[in-house]
Amino acid sequence: MPSEIFNDQFDVIVIGAGINGAGIARDAAMRGLKVLLLDKGDIGSGTSSWSTRLIHGGLRYLEYGELGLVRESLRERECLMKIAPHLVRPLRILVPMYKHGQRGVWKIRAGMIAYDVLSLGKSLPHHRMLTVSETLQQAPGLNRKDLLGAAVYFDAQVEYAERLVLENALSAVEHGATVITYARVDKFQIQDGKVCGVEFTRLQSPPSNVQRLNSGVQDEMSRGEEGGLAPALTPTPQGSSPIIREGSDVEHHSASAPIVINAAGPWIDQVLGANGQDSSRRIGGTKGSHLIVAPFGGAPENTIYVEAETDRRPFFIIPWNGNYLIGTTDIRYDADPDHVRIEAEEIEYLLRETNRVIPNAQLTRAQILYTYSGVRPLPFVTEKDEQSITRKHFIRASQHLDNLFSIVGGKLTTYRSLAEETVDLIFKRLGRSKPACTTIQAALPGAVARRRAAGLCELPEATSHRLARIYGTRSSEVAQLISDDPSLNKVFDQETGAIAAEVVFAFKHELAQTLSDCLLRRTMVGLNSTCGLKAVDAAASIAQKHLGWSASRVAQETGAYRMEISGRFRR
Ligand SMILES: Cc1cc2nc3c(=O)[nH]c(=O)nc-3n(C[C@H](O)[C@H](O)[C@H](O)COP(=O)(O)OP(=O)(O)OC[C@H]3O[C@@H](n4cnc5c(N)ncnc54)[C@H](O)[C@@H]3O)c2cc1C
Repeated sequence: MPSEIFNDQFDVIVIGAGINGAGIARDAAMRGLKVLLLDKGDIGSGTSSWSTRLIHGGLRYLEYGELGLVRESLRERECLMKIAPHLVRPLRILVPMYKHGQRGVWKIRAGMIAYDVLSLGKSLPHHRMLTVSETLQQAPGLNRKDLLGAAVYFDAQVEYAERLVLENALSAVEHGATVITYARVDKFQIQDGKVCGVEFTRLQSPPSNVQRLNSGVQDEMSRGEEGGLAPALTPTPQGSSPIIREGSDVEHHSASAPIVINAAGPWIDQVLGANGQDSSRRIGGTKGSHLIVAPFGGAPENTIYVEAETDRRPFFIIPWNGNYLIGTTDIRYDADPDHVRIEAEEIEYLLRETNRVIPNAQLTRAQILYTYSGVRPLPFVTEKDEQSITRKHFIRASQHLDNLFSIVGGKLTTYRSLAEETVDLIFKRLGRSKPACTTIQAALPGAVARRRAAGLCELPEATSHRLARIYGTRSSEVAQLISDDPSLNKVFDQETGAIAAEVVFAFKHELAQTLSDCLLRRTMVGLNSTCGLKAVDAAASIAQKHLGWSASRVAQETGAYRMEISGRFRR
């Protein structure tokens, strides 16, 4: 029997702390609902970490006549640049045009004009058409053969999508939500044909000396022997959200709520199938992969968005995090999303196409720093080519259980409007009048204006710059830790300049439970050129010294991190 550890009844349980689940939890908590958010891994460790990281209207969707989606996305792009300016920034994109391209100059120009019209009233500049010489001035490394010019337009980039998800979860907690990570939902509880709660498996007891942000359930679960979470976690092949293994170090729990939202991304059908009643298919995922390479010969200053010769799909070459992000692919994927990984053909395709567009690049597998792949949680359709499957979102009611809804499709870009729609629906189902949604103007935690506390230490410019880029206005909280203990000022990763205080901050104030959470989705050190491998021991020593980790926990966590990361170096 699972233990019912919650005395309180929740209004809504959200399964999955990706961008959609975290966004729904935030909006629901801000409107006064009692929310429980559960994830089988860390916050943002699913698909939301594996995207192209664009906050965009979706120029390509115009080809499929998705005007409504483009308009909504452009509105949300504007909103996210306002509520999270430290994370979502304008991105200048160059679209080179070639003689034999499937999309001719006039088609591209018409697309640009339509995009501008749909962006009316927005803050980003309109497009410009460039001649061949202007194009080459701006991107001298481009292949000149048959070049006809280029279009330049603006969208936005969320360099650290992981932190966009995190800040939504943190804001949800600030508004009273309970967030539990490494908590896998196994089953629905049912009464009179209605869902009334969930049963879930959680890894046992994080260390008792780690102070939790949320003083509710996480604290209750935090009592217990020091040992960390690593032993019961098995890394997935590509090193994404690790899988919970059954064993002595897991606990079974249940929680009640009259409404359950299944926001498990590409795992939605797995979650729905858990009770053995529902085998219908909602997700028809497609896999997309990216390569990360260091700056190379002819590497562009601006993002390049260009048609691939092989299949005429446009792909991106994006300056990102000091390196280049190249992608993506779009391939039907029916297997377990936990086992998604890049295939040799995808690597060949992305290298070949990049080398064609930028001849001096001469990229080979040896230059790949790491790769990542994800599954787009798209609606299931038969016989459609992958590119034409809609990127719209749908809130699907279960055919078997009342008050159970699944979030299908969507994009990082439109998570806020999806959350608003979902929370409106929750109020309707609860039979309560809905308070106004305020997320369109409510700044995320790192964008909330804060007064500088007296006595706060002065940080070197490079450190201040780094902290502002990652934590926004919350960097003053990191600085406070240094004011309290100046030894936390020490840089533990030379490449990124990350400092010891950030490790402490991740565990004490940002719901991190494992070293992997800390490096990959809090400090972002795990996205550097070596996936943080050069910094892993130093980060663990900081946790040992300042958070009281035992030697055995240090060994477990560093070993688990190395194993998790090994999946990303597949070339
Ligand atoms: C290659 C690629 C490129 C993309 N590029 C862009 C882009 O540039 N811009 C854009 O706007 N969008 C982009 N997207 C789309 C976007 O990333 C996704 O639509 C979005 O991240 C989905 O978020 P989600 O919260 O629904 O799912 P996820 O982020 O996958 O979250 C689902 C969560 O559910 C959890 N979960 C699963 N099963 C359980 C369970 N049993 N119990 C508890 N928790 C569970 C998982 O651990 C996971 O954290 C891209 C997607 C891909 C794959």
